[in-house]
Amino acid sequence: MLPRRHHELPPTAGLPLQLADLRPGAPTLAVDLAAQLGTPPLQLECSGTASLLIALITLRELHPQRRRIVVPAYTCPLVAIAVQQAGLELQLCDLRTGHSDMDPAALRAACDERTLAIMPTHLAGRVADVDDALAVANNVGAHVIEDAAQALGARHRGISVGMAGDIGFFSLAAGKGLSIYEGGLLLARDPALQERLARTAACIVPRSFGRESQRSIELLGYAALYRPRGLRLAYGNPLRRALRHGDPVGAVGDDFPLTIPLQRVGRWRQAVGAHAAARLPAFLDQLSTQAQRRLPRLRQIGGVEVLDDPADAQGTWPFLLLLLPNQQRRDAALAELWQAGLGVSRLFIHALPGYDYLKNIVPAQDVPNARDFAARSLSISNSPWLDDNDFETICRTLESVLA
Ligand SMILES: *Cc1c(COP(=O)(O)O)cnc(C)c1O
Repeated sequence: MLPRRHHELPPTAGLPLQLADLRPGAPTLAVDLAAQLGTPPLQLECSGTASLLIALITLRELHPQRRRIVVPAYTCPLVAIAVQQAGLELQLCDLRTGHSDMDPAALRAACDERTLAIMPTHLAGRVADVDDALAVANNVGAHVIEDAAQALGARHRGISVGMAGDIGFFSLAAGKGLSIYEGGLLLARDPALQERLARTAACIVPRSFGRESQRSIELLGYAALYRPRGLRLAYGNPLRRALRHGDPVGAVGDDFPLTIPLQRVGRWRQAVGAHAAARLPAFLDQLSTQAQRRLPRLRQIGGVEVLDDPADAQGTWPFLLLLLPNQQRRDAALAELWQAGLGVSRLFIHALPGYDYLKNIVPAQDVPNARDFAARSLSISNSPWLDDNDFETICRTLESVLA
């Protein structure tokens, strides 16, 4: 194992907050981001999952005879929890071999007149194949919800992700790019649907002074600790403790509560987000430049595949997602790198059926490609704090493991 250092790099490239971001200001976060992205008005919610829940409840009311939500079998456990909380049925779709997109044949097999929505997912900032989901959805009369939780700022043919489907959502959670500790943005191209989403939220999302106070304190903690020295305390030490206890699910934070809190986001957190959002375009450009510089180096390593975008897409680069030849090599690489403070980690530990705590809400379906993806993938942070020496250390370690 590589020696542990004094600082700790985050597994994803979040936009660091500055002291001046914490000053009071106008709560213009959603308006500013819509202008930046070139989207219709964005609806601010308390999390990406809350945004998804509101979307699902809205669609359920529009089409009460349809109950199935088709999702990639390798995705965030919160997606399964949202489907359950909306009173709908989860239908898994296996992945393409060695890819984060849903397999086109499996997708066609999973969809019929019971399908309410299909959820292409822009995993790791990579732009997903929404066109294929739209083709299938049109055939069976279903909707498309783009899960862009990990892809705020990503574009396809010059247009923000989330705009090709009927509904899209982004996450503003800690560690996912721009953060107000917990937050989400909901988007619909069609103004009538947008209006319905807003009405659903007005009905079911309460104000909560207590929760908002808690989130505000958490945001202050995040602002203070999201830097290489603070992250050892806030991220590295709990990670190593969980791994020592043989709990990889806990180590990456995949163990979510089974109910989704709903609350309105207060004005101060919106102002903090708006201040930070002014730096987002330059930050995303910086990350993209760094990723484009590092991808060729990774591709020189025999046995490493790096996930990339289709030719007409410009994704975001919170981290680089790699596939190694098999689980044994992947685990050998992690044995060297996971606890080294270099920002190497895993995305989700399992395909959805692999989580014990989700047994009652995820169908026990065999999804071999999703399982394979979980077993062979690892992530390398694209944080600007990961300097060229650190990156070279990671590459050399991968070379030695794969030799
Ligand atoms: C994080 C995430 C979500 C949920 O977003 P939160 O803001 O954490 O609630 C949904 N889908 C994917 C793919 C995610 O990574």
